[in-house]
Amino acid sequence: MKDIAASLAVSVLATTAVHAEEPRRRVAPPAVYEVAPGLGHFTDDVLFGEVWLREALKPRDRSLVTVSAIISTGKTAQIAGHVRRALDNGVAPDEIGELITQLAFYSGWPNAVSAVTETKKVFDERKIGAAADNTAERVQLEAAAEVARAALVADTVAPTAPALAELTNRVLFGDLWRRPNLSPRDRSLVTMAALIAIGQPEQIPFHANRAMDNGLTREEAAEALTHVAFYAGWPRGMSAVPVLKQVFASRAAATASANTVPSPELKVIRAEPVSTGTPGPASNFAGEVRVNSRYAADAPARIGGGVVSFAAGARTAWHTHPLGQTLFIVSGRGWVQKEGGPIIEVNPGDVVWIPPNVKHWHGASADAPMSHFAILESLNGSSVTWMEQVSEAQYRAAPRKP
Ligand code: MN
Repeated sequence: MKDIAASLAVSVLATTAVHAEEPRRRVAPPAVYEVAPGLGHFTDDVLFGEVWLREALKPRDRSLVTVSAIISTGKTAQIAGHVRRALDNGVAPDEIGELITQLAFYSGWPNAVSAVTETKKVFDERKIGAAADNTAERVQLEAAAEVARAALVADTVAPTAPALAELTNRVLFGDLWRRPNLSPRDRSLVTMAALIAIGQPEQIPFHANRAMDNGLTREEAAEALTHVAFYAGWPRGMSAVPVLKQVFASRAAATASANTVPSPELKVIRAEPVSTGTPGPASNFAGEVRVNSRYAADAPARIGGGVVSFAAGARTAWHTHPLGQTLFIVSGRGWVQKEGGPIIEVNPGDVVWIPPNVKHWHGASADAPMSHFAILESLNGSSVTWMEQVSEAQYRAAPRKP
C-alpha cells in the first residue's frame, strides 16, 4: 500500500518536476513517505528537487542560509545533516564555526552551544581537526556607516541600557563583525537569514542594507527569504516580505536620485589674508580672533568648518559640540583644555578630536599666536553651544607639554 502511494506520488511528480528525466536521490527518509507521503513529495520534488536547484542563490549560500535558520530556531536534530551538506557545498569548516559564533549574538548562546555539539560530531566523522586561529587582518568597516551606526546606538540604546550600548560598539561591531573568518557579505547573509527565521523583521532593514552594501544582490536577498520560508515557515517568510520591499524601494530611490541629480561643481574657497577674515564675536571669544575660509557642506552632508586664527592670548569661551569637533593645528602654538582636564599644548600638524558634548576651549598660547582648521558637524542645525568665558586664572594655568 505504501509502495503504491509512494510510486504514485513519484509518477505524478515525474510529469511536473523540473528535471524529471534525471533519476533523483531521495532526501526524505522512507519514514517520511510512510507517515506523510505528501511531505515526502514536497521534500524531494519541491524543496530539494526545485528550490535548492534554483540558480538565483548558489548552493553554498543556500547552505549558509539553511544552517543559520536551523541553528537560530534551535532545530538541533537537523543541524548535523545540514552541516554535512554545507561542507559538501563548499562552506569551509572554520566558516561554519564563525557562522555559529555570529549566531550566538543574534539568536543566543544556548542555540550556538547546541550547534557546536552537533557540528563537532560531523567534524569528527569527517576527521576535521581543531580550527586554527585565523591570522588574517581584521575587516575594516566602512567608516561613514560606522559613525552613523554608533550615533544611532548612542541615541537609542545608551540612555536606557548603557552597558548594552557599550558592548554593541566594542564587542559586536568592534570585534565580532571585524573577524576575518567569514566575509562581510556572508556574515550579513547569515545574520539576515537568522533574523527572518526567528521573526525579527524590525531588525532586517539595517542588516539587509548592510548585506547589499557588502555585495548581496537584490535577487539573492529575495531568494534567501524564499529559502528561509521552507526552514522557518511561510509566516516568517511572509512577515519579512514588506520589510525587504521597503529596503529595495529605498535603495532604488537612492540610486535614482544619485543618477538624476546634476553633478554639483566643486567649491574652492580661496585663502585670504587673516586680517580680512570675520572677527570672532566678543560673546564667544576673548582677544583677537579671525575666521577665514569658512565653509558649510551641502545637505544631506552636515559638515562644515573654517580656519580660525587666534592672536597670542586669544581663545574661545567654554563650549560644547553636539557631534564633536576636529582641530588641525596649522601654525603657531595653541592650548586646548576640557573641563576638569589639563591644558594641553598643540603644535602645527597636530590633530585634536573633541568628543560630542565635552565642555572645552581652545586658543593660542599666552605668548604665541595659533591658527587651526576646525571641522564639525551640526545636529538639528546646531554645531556649537556657547558658555561662559575662560577666566584669566583658568587660562594662565601652566600648560602640559605634549
Ligand atoms: Mn570647540
